[in-house]
Amino acid sequence: MKILVIGSGGREHALVWKLAQSPHAAQMWCAPGNAGSAQERLAKNGAAVECVNISAEDLPKLLAFAQKKRVDFTIVGPDNPLALGIVDLFQKYGLKIWGVNQKAAQFESSKVFSQKFMGKYGIPTAAAGTFSDVIAAKKFTATLGGRCVVKADGLALGKGVLICTNQAEAERAVDEIMVGKAFGAAGARIVIQEFLEGIEVSLHALCDGTTAKIFPTSQDHKRALDGDLGLNTGGMGTYSPTPFLTETELAETGRKILEPFMRGCVAEGIDYRGLLYPGVMLTKNGPKILEFNARFGDPETQVYLTRLENDLVELLDASVSGTLDKIELKWKPAASVCVVMASGGYPGNYEKGKTIRDLDNAAKLPGVKVFHAGTAKSGNEIVTNGGRVLGVTALGKDLKAAQAAAYAAVEKIHFDGAHFRRDIAAKALNGH
Ligand code: AMP
Repeated sequence: MKILVIGSGGREHALVWKLAQSPHAAQMWCAPGNAGSAQERLAKNGAAVECVNISAEDLPKLLAFAQKKRVDFTIVGPDNPLALGIVDLFQKYGLKIWGVNQKAAQFESSKVFSQKFMGKYGIPTAAAGTFSDVIAAKKFTATLGGRCVVKADGLALGKGVLICTNQAEAERAVDEIMVGKAFGAAGARIVIQEFLEGIEVSLHALCDGTTAKIFPTSQDHKRALDGDLGLNTGGMGTYSPTPFLTETELAETGRKILEPFMRGCVAEGIDYRGLLYPGVMLTKNGPKILEFNARFGDPETQVYLTRLENDLVELLDASVSGTLDKIELKWKPAASVCVVMASGGYPGNYEKGKTIRDLDNAAKLPGVKVFHAGTAKSGNEIVTNGGRVLGVTALGKDLKAAQAAAYAAVEKIHFDGAHFRRDIAAKALNGH
């Protein structure tokens, strides 16, 4: 099978790495990929994965490439091409592609759409309202005593969420998004949720239109600095499993979310085939959904795919063809920890082109897989080429062992300005 993976981050390198292990993969490309994807070899025949210089958002060029190379199966990593309708486009031309279609991508591209859907189908979420009127919005924040979260409706590069502790802050947040248009058109409508306290976890479920199969739990670390301080980032590290939900609680949570979700999709004529990634707050009143994403998490993918035992080509194929009910997801009992090494200054301004040294020494350590995110080849060297540079991932017999292995690998890798959190998985190990 000829396979094309779309995207350039750590998530996509992890997808490439796992798909390349499948005996079904005979030739693979990644558009645009990174220096790590380009180093992968196919298990079947030793062929190299080829990176193609086409952006993940250039739909016409991606289509032309897939047609020219007669790609059998395209896998989409990031949310933007999904929201732009890449799945609908490829399907129109008879090409097999994995990822949600444009209608289903609304769960991520519109928070108002998601919030209304959750209300309509009884999916546990925060008390919330959706607004396109400033005065009504401010009235609603007052009913929450100002302790709320104000969210721009559309995609705002992860920045359109403002947490408020009192009414004055809440009114400022509403003005900033709706009047000041801080996030442009994305803020024409807003969602206001009550502020929820608890432990935040990431859930993932693979869906095929009728069946949804839930993954084990994982937890991301969104802030730049140890102790959840500093600015929000794309994610500085993950681990799986988390100790915060037992198997039974996870299954119960999955049912509470996924059954009404799939039922609602059928009722609304949404053919949900792809990945559903709800952000969940475990509150004292039970799990509540904060938001839906419609693709794999980054860096959640890195810990999930190092634990996954199934053939990923077969899994994603079943997600497209509607046969997931015939497949049982199998996970290694081992724990996985991913520590992101970022460029100095990230998530603010940072420089690119710093030489990354000693990657081979880290890769030699047992249980370690170094996924590339923002990297590029420059002559014979691998250099930094983005904010999040590497996702240093390790499996271990338990979380403590996986954490130790991941940090041992991190210590071996060097580039100017490298920064990373030292407390990935610490919440699980410290028991809070
Ligand atoms: P979102 O993009 O909607 O997931 O929001 C980004 C982050 O804001 C989440 O990962 C949470 O840490 C925080 N957040 C969002 N909604 C709430 C809420 N209702 N209560 C508390 N924190 C929230």
